Amino acid sequence: MAGIYIHIPFCRQACYYCNFHFSTQLKNLGNVLEAIMWELDLRKGYLEEQTVETIYLGGGTPSLLNIGQLNQLIDSVKEKYRIAQEVEFTMECNPEDVTSEGLQHWRDAGINRLSIGIQSFRDHDLRFMNRVHNADQSLTALELIDESPIENYNVDLMFGLVDSTLEDWQYSLEKISQFQPTHLSVYNLTIEEQTVFAHLRKTKRLEENTTEEQRRQFRHAQNYLAQKGFQHYEISNYSLPGYSSLHNANYWKRIPYLGIGPSAHSFQDEVRSWNVSNNASYLRMCEQDEYYCSKEHLDQFDQYNETIMLGLRCDSGIDITKLSLFPTEIRDHFYRESEHMMKEGILISTDQSIRLNKDWWFICDKVSSGLFITKN
Ligand code: SF4
Repeated sequence: MAGIYIHIPFCRQACYYCNFHFSTQLKNLGNVLEAIMWELDLRKGYLEEQTVETIYLGGGTPSLLNIGQLNQLIDSVKEKYRIAQEVEFTMECNPEDVTSEGLQHWRDAGINRLSIGIQSFRDHDLRFMNRVHNADQSLTALELIDESPIENYNVDLMFGLVDSTLEDWQYSLEKISQFQPTHLSVYNLTIEEQTVFAHLRKTKRLEENTTEEQRRQFRHAQNYLAQKGFQHYEISNYSLPGYSSLHNANYWKRIPYLGIGPSAHSFQDEVRSWNVSNNASYLRMCEQDEYYCSKEHLDQFDQYNETIMLGLRCDSGIDITKLSLFPTEIRDHFYRESEHMMKEGILISTDQSIRLNKDWWFICDKVSSGLFITKN
């Protein structure tokens, strides 16, 4: 069992909160796509004989690819890898790229799941974030998807937006309830370094929303979406029963994946590797027919920290069997540091797992880091 992630590193314009790798120089898209297909060929041995159960086209904005480019890319994947018949094949798209004709093409090409970046239904928020689309385009795109042959789709939404209130957040939640997504990714706006928002904050032209308001909006989504039948199965992810994302679940379960394209990460046999986050350097690699990447071997402490961090993010929790495979000193550390949280009901222990009480999910990172082992 394995997954493939392909990064299409281009966007029409830069969203002010985004720290993913992308370029707005769309004229290079064709060349980078060629290089991506070169990498797909070169690294076809990475997954050896493993069957690929999930494929994810992310970015950047993969919906910028025209149908010819998309077919070429997908043919190249199918030719070189062993793909499961029931593969979950997701593509990220933005509202401005959604048309009924395009949706039919995407489905014909084999894509059976979409992830659409809506973020907010308020034009004021969208302008502030420098999104390309407006709220009307989102509504049209969602209507078209609901009428299309792609029934399984995720919507990205953001809460805790600068100066947003609970009423503003409720407005977006109500709007999305008018459509039929099977999955919602609900993210808190975090201000990452090297973004326009980080610069605005530094120069005192942007003030983040308060933690209290963010927590209120997080809790509100938990309650509201539960009433709508969504299961909150991971901190930032909700799904209707049977529609959790297999691709993301594989990351959380530490199942091998191959990442193709600039900045993409791969993972297998406790080795994490990642491609250069620069389109020109990536193209040079292809021109010189010489692949290189950065690598990190995860030792037992890294593996433990990851097991804790990923386990606490999910409603399935930390798998006790996996925990029992770590050496005694690591297990002792875990039980010693977690004892008070078990007593206080922050962590819930069963025969199979130890999970974080959902009331505490908002501060999951803090709970995880309290259980980490820091190396000298
Ligand atoms: S469209 Fe997505 S990847 Fe591109 S800048 Fe906006 S958030 Fe980032």
